[in-house]
Amino acid sequence: MSNQKEKRCSFCDRTESEVNILFTGIKGNICDACTENAHHLLQETNSDSKPKKDNKEALKKHKVYKPREMKEFLDQYVIGQDDAKKVMSVAIYNHYKRLLQEKKDDDVEIEKSNIIMVGETGTGKTLLAKSIARLLQVPFAIVDATVFTEAGYVGEDVESILSRLLQSCDYDVAAAEHGIVYIDEIDKVGRKGDNPSITRDVSGEGVQQAMLKLLEGSEVLVPPQGGRKHPEQKMVKINTQNILFICGGAFEGIDKMIARRVQTAAIGYNAIKSTNELDRSNLLQYVNAQDLRSFGLIPELLGRLPIVTYLNPLDRNALKQILTEPKNALIKQYKKLFEYEDIELIVEEGALDYMVDKAIEYKLGGRGLRAICEMILTDAMFDLPSEKDKKQFHLTLEYAKQMLEHSKLDHLKAA
Ligand code: ADP
Repeated sequence: MSNQKEKRCSFCDRTESEVNILFTGIKGNICDACTENAHHLLQETNSDSKPKKDNKEALKKHKVYKPREMKEFLDQYVIGQDDAKKVMSVAIYNHYKRLLQEKKDDDVEIEKSNIIMVGETGTGKTLLAKSIARLLQVPFAIVDATVFTEAGYVGEDVESILSRLLQSCDYDVAAAEHGIVYIDEIDKVGRKGDNPSITRDVSGEGVQQAMLKLLEGSEVLVPPQGGRKHPEQKMVKINTQNILFICGGAFEGIDKMIARRVQTAAIGYNAIKSTNELDRSNLLQYVNAQDLRSFGLIPELLGRLPIVTYLNPLDRNALKQILTEPKNALIKQYKKLFEYEDIELIVEEGALDYMVDKAIEYKLGGRGLRAICEMILTDAMFDLPSEKDKKQFHLTLEYAKQMLEHSKLDHLKAA
């Protein structure tokens, strides 16, 4: 018989010695297992009750930004990419405007303006999507399309895209239902080979088919914790009608497809009278859904991504601007970090140019700039906090060179 005085869990009645931890309250106790159960129940109840919350209430909180306002906001964070910014601002404006007007006229059918962006990696696709979500203050999730294909059926279910969105807003279903999802590397779910195969292609078409349901706007059952690791979890119903999907992909080699198409179209086509009028240096601007089809994206999927836009490759000038100009530009971030140590970071022009040169040389784009900065400044960030009298740090070209020469930059080199 156990000791009468031994404390027990007021919920499961197990004694202190039978449980891992027993939390003691004023009039009762609770063990770790019961706490965990209560937590799960709470989570489930929350996700159950939240869909019933009026979605329109959440929507009303939205300020509808005019396209021009949106672009001005994006300009603060993203360098260049004017066309993509414009197209995106208009699409999002229309999307949210339609959502808000739905209340007045229930007969109006809302068509979604899901977007697909084509552009080399590191040109700002994710940054654009992220920045717009920041402005609109809506839940935002980034997912990589390749996780659905890499391991075939062992990979994640497409519905877990929405799990991420749910997690990003703390399981507030009403909020998630008008959020934004960025699906990266959409070019990687292309059907292998251009001809439709009879056998079901798990790695490509199967995933695209599964995505259709999400993109077009329907009620989807979502595992709140995502993945398949929690088979016991209760599914949450999410209506995707008002969720905006933005897809992005590098579509490597698409310029050749575009070249071929415009070349053919140039004959007897008025808008582009002759191939001479084409801006050959940047064919990406002529991209359309037809070109994307040659990457194995099925027409049904493309139909649900009606807005196609592109991002320019970043030139030297753009890369240099990225380092210093955006609101949270890399150099501004490092300056702030140094400031915390009461040290002024002074970056010389030559050092900036050198970093840009290296990003170009190693084909690292905008994404590589961070790695380059990190390699150059790590030693300084390591030593300076211990050097009490130091008030300034000059990042010169010589210093930058010296640091990079000893670094592992070669490992970053794009294949
Ligand atoms: P993508 O999604 O096109 O592969 P990202 O948007 O993830 O590229 O860009 C990676 C990083 O490079 C960003 O976080 C940002 O620091 C920088 N960057 C890339 N393009 C731009 C740009 N146009 N303006 C500002 N920063 C950029």
